[in-house]
Amino acid sequence: MTSLPLISVDPDARGRRPSMPPRHLADLDLSGRQALVTELGEPAFRAKQVSNHYFGRLVRDPERMTDLPAATRERLAGELLPTLLTPVRELACDDGATRKALWRLHDGSLVESVLMGYPDRVTVCISSQAGCGMACPFCATGQAGLTRNLSTAEIVDQAVYLAGVAASGAVAGSPPRLSHVVFMGMGEPLANYSRVVAAIRRLVAPAPEGLGLSQRHITVSTVGLVPAIRRLASEDLSVTLALSLHAPDDELRDELVPVNQRWKVSEVLDAAWDYAATTGRRVSIEYAMIKDVNDQPWRADLLGRLLAGKLAHVNLIPLNPTPGSRWDASPKPVEREFVRRLRDAGVSTTVRDTRGREIDGACGQLAAAGDTDGDSRAATA
Ligand code: SAH
Repeated sequence: MTSLPLISVDPDARGRRPSMPPRHLADLDLSGRQALVTELGEPAFRAKQVSNHYFGRLVRDPERMTDLPAATRERLAGELLPTLLTPVRELACDDGATRKALWRLHDGSLVESVLMGYPDRVTVCISSQAGCGMACPFCATGQAGLTRNLSTAEIVDQAVYLAGVAASGAVAGSPPRLSHVVFMGMGEPLANYSRVVAAIRRLVAPAPEGLGLSQRHITVSTVGLVPAIRRLASEDLSVTLALSLHAPDDELRDELVPVNQRWKVSEVLDAAWDYAATTGRRVSIEYAMIKDVNDQPWRADLLGRLLAGKLAHVNLIPLNPTPGSRWDASPKPVEREFVRRLRDAGVSTTVRDTRGREIDGACGQLAAAGDTDGDSRAATA
């Protein structure tokens, strides 16, 4: 495990009020960028040129945009590619195959992303909000509350930036090209609906309009905002939906995922099955295994009955305990029994690998740590 250089958080930034960032080309589709470039007094085709540098070549330094007249490079890059993310800390583990980035946004808010390399693919896990308003008690981000929604470009730029890191060959033993994006960082993506959907459109649009990823390689994870799940099904997108279920019964889910008090297990599963039917995509059911809380054999059986015969896959996540939490991960034998019961019910089930554990890979943990213990963290990294 290695640690990359630390940049300390600007103390002045902390007192700033949350505010949306400057406009960036990734906020706009190609025709919007062309209109903007024309407004700036430049020929429309410059929009395509700058887009090609950003999305196609993963270049953001105006010096390297040699097909643009030297006199306009700085100005165009300044207008279209303002700095949105400043790296505060980057940590690597799993022999460099997992890299976590903590970013400072223009208003001092902190968000994080994770780059994960596998032999056959490269995945980034990105944030959709600074903080989160969903208040799930086992999640570090949920403890801090919502600061603000991220802009479309702030969401997209996490993926583009880390695609550049992957392209530089930083993830040994993995392909250099980013292939998968999961919305499993900080925030509730469906609570920032229009910006998240616009970000997905940028991620899947072919270069130079976007990053050219396959829709099927994008996963949106949600606590279960039922109207938004239904709306997402009606977009002409077929991204994978991940539903953070964590309990098969309303009594426990009301506590673990408080939004369940609004939309019950049966309603959220109905929306998930409709999503699967409309898109043809198997829904991923996320279930954090929490010792003596949601890991009982009877809950496995109940979950099995709810999911049997459905277009669903269960992803069990060993709980990554948050600092000061009263909860712990389930013991391995308990986890194995849970898996066995689900599979006996005919439900496809896997246990998620614990990538990034050592660098606080669980939702929100690095940003929640902020800069207060940065030195001790770097020393042990
Ligand atoms: N708000 C969205 C996406 C962000 S969290 C959602 O809830 O789905 C991504 C996943 O990590 C969710 O399934 C979430 O429940 C899970 N998670 C959060 N904190 C965790 C922890 N401490 N240990 C294990 N999984 C956690």
